[in-house]
Amino acid sequence: MKFVNEYRDPELGKKLLERIHKHSHKHTRLMEFCGGHTVAIFKHGLRQLLPDNIEMLSGPGCPVCVTSITDLDKAIALARLPDVIITSFGDMVRVPGSRSSLQQAKAEGADVRIVYSAQDALATARENPDKHIIFIGIGFETTAPTVAASVLQAEEEGINNYYVLSLHKICPPIMKALLDLGEVRLNGIICPGHVSSIIGAYPYQFIADEYGIACAVSGFEPLDMLLAVDMLVNQIETEQPRVEIAYRRGVKPEGNIQAIHLMETVFEVADADWRGIGVVPSSGLRPRPKYEKYDAEKEFEIEVDPAEEPKGCICGSILRGVSTPRDCGLFRTKCTPEQPIGPCMVSAEGTCATYYHYSESD
Ligand code: SF4
Repeated sequence: MKFVNEYRDPELGKKLLERIHKHSHKHTRLMEFCGGHTVAIFKHGLRQLLPDNIEMLSGPGCPVCVTSITDLDKAIALARLPDVIITSFGDMVRVPGSRSSLQQAKAEGADVRIVYSAQDALATARENPDKHIIFIGIGFETTAPTVAASVLQAEEEGINNYYVLSLHKICPPIMKALLDLGEVRLNGIICPGHVSSIIGAYPYQFIADEYGIACAVSGFEPLDMLLAVDMLVNQIETEQPRVEIAYRRGVKPEGNIQAIHLMETVFEVADADWRGIGVVPSSGLRPRPKYEKYDAEKEFEIEVDPAEEPKGCICGSILRGVSTPRDCGLFRTKCTPEQPIGPCMVSAEGTCATYYHYSESD
């Protein structure tokens, strides 16, 4: 455990905190984009250790949470088609759609299977040649290359019963959309670690250049996060916004060229529908025309009724950083991880689930 412990060293953490306290004077509002960062911040009690003038907001970086209810309704409609096996990451199965969920569809007879990767979904296609296997492709740039690899593998093996419902999202356009909405004034952004290991740090440059907002890419250990905050404080106090990497062991400025190539081979950029935000131009990925026979949206005809958001759920405004779970009247009372009403309580990286598990009861 030496490697992990190095990034949890209390003495180094203390020194970083002292530096942050010494240098941070302005009222500073930072957003951690990624749900994994929200969990790390709460789990290690970092909010309480930072100076009072630093405010931390959670952002939209939870793939399950940002999947729009219309897209979820499409997945449920696909599950009800004959001879279809839906393969999905576990969290997605529990998220309530407008009128049902994948879990409920399964209870009513649909074949819905939880998988841990797109390769598992492809294996299901190999084992069931007389069925149509649809993988519910959610996630950011981190997962899209692995899904792209599964499509290329299907092509190579001549597997013709494998499809992807591509609900993938890409990060820089949604960051721009949030900033353009202007609902929350930010001084700095903790940029996602896993996503940046694929896309690198360059795609965030516009945030510093055009919006004057400080950026630091962070890993998920306490020292990574404190180093990122320290970098952001320095940029903010000196009024020199730029993009820095506090996660050098995981992120190169140029990213992972091979993974980007894989993703771009199979997918092209498309508009995407985000929960709480709506359709954002060029913020998603769909299979290129060359791979459209693997595109579940193209290959299956489904109709979905207009979406209905769960009554009283404010996941949308939580994902935009405008509200916190404590602003929701259902938090901890009617909405719990056992009986979730919205996706932010289902996903392990959802802000509501994180507040539920790691913050004190109100
Ligand atoms: Fe939605 Fe539940 Fe979160 Fe409220 S606590 S915003 S109902 S997920």
